[in-house]
Amino acid sequence: MSLSSLSFSLLLLPHSLLSMENKFLDFLSFCFSNTICGLLMVSCLARSIINRIGFRTLAWRKETKKKIPQGENKMPLLDLPDLTLDCILEKLSPSELCAMTCVCSELRDKCVSDHLWEKHMEKKWGRLMGDAAIKEWKSHVATLMQCLRDPNRSSRRSNTQWRSRLAANLKPFSWLSSNHGCDQRGSSYLATIDSVMYWYSNLESGKFWFPAQVYNRENGHVGFMMSCYDAKIRYDSKTDTFQARYSAHGRRAAEENVTWQRLRPSLIDAESRDLHVSDCLQELRPGDQFEIQWRRTKEFPYGWWFGIVGHLQNCDGEESCRCHLDENVVMEFRQFRPDSPWRTTVLNRKEHRETGNESNGFYGGVKKLATEEEVSTWKQLWPAQVLQ
Ligand SMILES: [Zn+2]
Repeated sequence: MSLSSLSFSLLLLPHSLLSMENKFLDFLSFCFSNTICGLLMVSCLARSIINRIGFRTLAWRKETKKKIPQGENKMPLLDLPDLTLDCILEKLSPSELCAMTCVCSELRDKCVSDHLWEKHMEKKWGRLMGDAAIKEWKSHVATLMQCLRDPNRSSRRSNTQWRSRLAANLKPFSWLSSNHGCDQRGSSYLATIDSVMYWYSNLESGKFWFPAQVYNRENGHVGFMMSCYDAKIRYDSKTDTFQARYSAHGRRAAEENVTWQRLRPSLIDAESRDLHVSDCLQELRPGDQFEIQWRRTKEFPYGWWFGIVGHLQNCDGEESCRCHLDENVVMEFRQFRPDSPWRTTVLNRKEHRETGNESNGFYGGVKKLATEEEVSTWKQLWPAQVLQ
């Protein structure tokens, strides 16, 4: 059974809408002249089509023709102007868009368009798709494309492995189509490898591990409170959480059920083994909030740790404070008790590169927190009890 032989019965507007046919374009013109009204009405129209007709009404074209009385006034959805149809499709969720791809080849071609999926990608994944994640995905796609273009590149055995892997990867809709009863055989070849839809489906299905940073790693392990470490993560749609693998020296660390609130994107210029260039040390004053790189030994990757600039030992913190003029700056980590060896460290404003030792660890680059959002994110992670 080929998709092309499926009926267009889905494409027929419900009877209640038929009376609108003559005034349809005028009606839409009015809607679009009022942005809010237009969006609401087109959204209602889209939902009406999806919900009232339903995808179970798919039937053979011949069967449908028999069921539709001659002369009955129906309006095929695909006869709508492109702009109107686009407006309807833009209101559909990823799941609904996927379901529409099962209807016919024409709708399939429209529903896999990048411009429809870019909005969904930005809405759900934009916050975590930092430069590092985007670079990783592009590299992944380039590898797949290269293997498709050059089948003789690999040996016969590895080439077979590549092809089976591609065949598996080209079924991006299993997570979606199960909700709508779409034929999986029909939906297995819909998205091209370099499409936004394929990217989205790989993120949603958890197939794509991508770089991100995790606050309070290892589920708030006491040794990592108020820190943020690089990891590779993947999504679990069943729990709406993530699985994380940390790059660590010596032991392999992983974690499940990482919530969205504990994640932020990785930046290419913040590789976990590169020393961050500190350009804010001269301007730091008591009370400023910052992040600083720290690692246990030089073999470990850096994590970012939250801190607050404190006063020098000989300052009472009152109006006579001159700490901001001193060549040294006190970095405080108030999640630790005052007598903890982790509570404070002192950096030289001019000469700081990386300081520390094997017993207390190494302090690297510093960046001053610039936005209220950054500060409030850290404060939400504050431990219930002061750490030793
Ligand atoms: Zn002071």
